[in-house]
Amino acid sequence: MTIYSTDQLRNLALISHSGAGKTTLAESLLFHAKVISRKGKVEDGNTTGDYEPEAIKRGGSTQLSILPLPWRDHKVTLIDTPGYFDFLGDAVSGLRVADAAILVVSATSDLEVGTELMWKRVRALGLPCVIFVNKLDRENTNFLETAAQVTSNLGQTCVPMQLQVGESQDFAGVINLLDSSVDIPENLKGAAADARERLVEAIAESDDDLATRYLEGESLTDEELSHALRKAIMSCDLVPILAGSALKDLGLAELLDLIVDYGPSGSEKSATARDNNGNESKLDIKSDASLAALVFKTTADQYVGKLSFIRVYSGTLKSDSEVFNANKQQTERIGQLFVPRGKEQEQVSQLVAGEIGAVGRLSSTATGDTLSNTGKGLIMDGVNFPDPLYSMAVYPKAKADTDKLSTALNRLVEEDPSLKFAREADTGEALLIGLGDSHVELAVQRAQRKLGANLLLETPRVPYKETLGAVAKVDHRHKQQSGGHGHFAHVQLRLEPLDTLAGIQFSTEVTGGNVPREFIPAVEKGVRRACAEGVLAGFPVVDIRAVLFDGSFHPVDSATMDFDIAGYYGLKKGFLDGSPTLMEPVMIIRVTTPDNYTGDIIGDINSKRGKILGMIPQSDGETIVEAHAPLSELQRYALQLRSITQGRASYSMEFDHHEAVPANLAQKVIEGAKQGKE
Ligand code: GDP
Repeated sequence: MTIYSTDQLRNLALISHSGAGKTTLAESLLFHAKVISRKGKVEDGNTTGDYEPEAIKRGGSTQLSILPLPWRDHKVTLIDTPGYFDFLGDAVSGLRVADAAILVVSATSDLEVGTELMWKRVRALGLPCVIFVNKLDRENTNFLETAAQVTSNLGQTCVPMQLQVGESQDFAGVINLLDSSVDIPENLKGAAADARERLVEAIAESDDDLATRYLEGESLTDEELSHALRKAIMSCDLVPILAGSALKDLGLAELLDLIVDYGPSGSEKSATARDNNGNESKLDIKSDASLAALVFKTTADQYVGKLSFIRVYSGTLKSDSEVFNANKQQTERIGQLFVPRGKEQEQVSQLVAGEIGAVGRLSSTATGDTLSNTGKGLIMDGVNFPDPLYSMAVYPKAKADTDKLSTALNRLVEEDPSLKFAREADTGEALLIGLGDSHVELAVQRAQRKLGANLLLETPRVPYKETLGAVAKVDHRHKQQSGGHGHFAHVQLRLEPLDTLAGIQFSTEVTGGNVPREFIPAVEKGVRRACAEGVLAGFPVVDIRAVLFDGSFHPVDSATMDFDIAGYYGLKKGFLDGSPTLMEPVMIIRVTTPDNYTGDIIGDINSKRGKILGMIPQSDGETIVEAHAPLSELQRYALQLRSITQGRASYSMEFDHHEAVPANLAQKVIEGAKQGKE
C-alpha cells in the first residue's frame, strides 16, 4: 500500500451525457495505469466501474463508482458518475467531493443535452474542468470539428490543447500544442500553428502580464505558458479540450499527465465548515489538522450492511478510531477503513486529507454528515440532491413482504437521498418518489436483490374527496325484527355544504327527547364512519355539517348501536340527494425553463386542464411558468416535461386546493372505483 500526501492526490468526477464513454474511459485508464491486467467491456458487463447487476443490465452506470489509479507518483481517483437524468443524485454526490471534472464528449454525435446540463453544474460549482473528446477512432469523426461545436455551445473558455494524428481507423495519437519540442508531421504543421496560436492567445488573456507581452509580439516560453495555463484551469478561465479514444487507448497518457501536472491537488481546493456556534471558517487542508470528513454516499446491503463513502477534507481519519458526527451530535466508531475500486476494496489504516475511502457499519451517520474529532463538532455543507417528483405507489408482492416494505423503503432512501418515501394520508398508500420511472423501478429491483423485499409498483391513487353541492334532508328508519327483541332507530338529518377545510361538523336540534340524549353520540359516530368511507367512489366526505333535527325511538327495541347504524345509512342516503360532488387536488406548479420552450410548456399545461397563472422572466434567458393543474393530470409530468425540453427544464409542485372534477371525468372515476371494489 503506497502512502500518498495530500499534494499527490487528484480527485476527478467523470461526467457526460450517457453513452459518451465514461465507463470505458475509466476502464482504459485503469488498464493504462496497470491497475488491471485485462480490460472489461461495457457490453460484457465486466468493467470495474459498472458492477451492479442493474447497471450491467442497462448497459450504463446507475451509481457512482470510485476508481483510484496510480500515475507518476500520484493517486488519481476517478469518480465515475451515471449520465442518465434518473440517476442524477449520484452524479451530484460525486461532483460534491470532486476537485475537478473530466467532461467526456462523444465525437460521433452533435453536442448532447446531457453534456450541456453537466457543464452547467460544473460551472455552478466552480470546478476546474477538462473536456475529453472521445471515440475519435470512429468513422466520420474529427477532433477540431467537435471541439468547435464544444466552444460554440459551452463558451470561448473551452480551447483545444491538442491535435489528432490520423483520423478514424488511422487515428494514431495526439500532439500537445504547448510542447514546442515535438516533431509535428508535415501535413499538420499549418493546423498546429493555428491551433497553438489560439491556445497561446487564450492563455495570455488570462494573465495581465503575459497578455501585454503577447500583444507586444514577445514570444512566450513553454514553461511560462504552462504555468499560466495551470492558473487559468484552476480559476476556470480556461477549459482545455483533449482528444482521444477510450476504446483504442489513445490520448490516455496525455490525459493523465494533464491531470497530474495541471489538476488541482487535494490541498488546493478550499473548503469550509461551521463549528458548534455556527461560525463558518476555512478548513486547514492538511493531514495533521483537525478532522473534517464528509460522507457523500451510503449504500446498504443485506449481507455487508451499511457502507459509507467518505472524503476527508482536513486531518486524518484512522481505522479503529472514534469520531464525532456533529450533524447527529453522536459519537461514531470507525472500524476498518478501505479504499474502494469498483466493487473491490483495499484495506487501509488511514485516509489523509484529500483522500476518498469507505467504512462499514456506521451507526447513526447518513449521507451529507460530517465526521470530526471528538469534541470538535464541525459541519460541512452536505450534498444538494435534486428534488424528486415522480411518485409511484409501492405494494408488497406477497404477504411475507408486508413487514419488509417500510424497512426496505427506508433503506432505499438512506442509500439514495434523491428518492423519497412518503405515506399518502388520504389513500393510505406508501409512495416511492424518484426522479423518473427508471429511478423508481431500479430502486425496487435493488430492494429485492439486496434486501429481499418483493415490491410492486402502481400508479398512485389520486386522493379525491367527496362533498355536497346543496342542502339535503333525509329521513331514515333502521328497523329489524329477529327472534328476541327488535332493533329500532329513526333519524332525520339535514346535510349542509360547508367551506373548504371545514372538515365534518355535527350538531343536534332535537327537542323533547325525540331522540334521547344518550343516543346522539352514536348517531354522530355513524355519520362520521360513513363520511370516512365515502359515498360516491370511496373517497372521504369532507366539508359538510350534519344536523340531527328530529327522529324517534322505541322504549324497548332502541339501543346505541341502532342509532349508529341509522346515522351511517342516513348519511349515505342523504348525501346522494345533495348534489354530491367529487373534488380533486389541484397543484401549483412552477416550471423553470429556457425561454424557447415556454410555448410548448403552456400548451401542454392547457391540455392537462391547467390554468396558467403567470410567467416570470428570469435574467438568464429562462422563464418561470406558474400554473394550477389537477394532480391526476400531473402524475407523469416529470417524464413529460423532460421529453418536451430534453431535460432542460425543472419544476416544483405543491398542493394548492381542491376543485370539483368535471362531470364526465367524475363519472369515470366513480365507475373505476366501483369496478375496483368488485
Ligand atoms: P458511459 O455511459 O458514458 O459510461 O459510456 P460507456 O463507456 O458505457 O460507452 C458507451 C458505448 O460507447 C459502449 O458501447 C462503448 O464500447 C462505446 N465506446 C466508448 N468509448 C469508445 C471509443 O473510444 N471508441 C469507440 N469506437 N467506442 C467507444
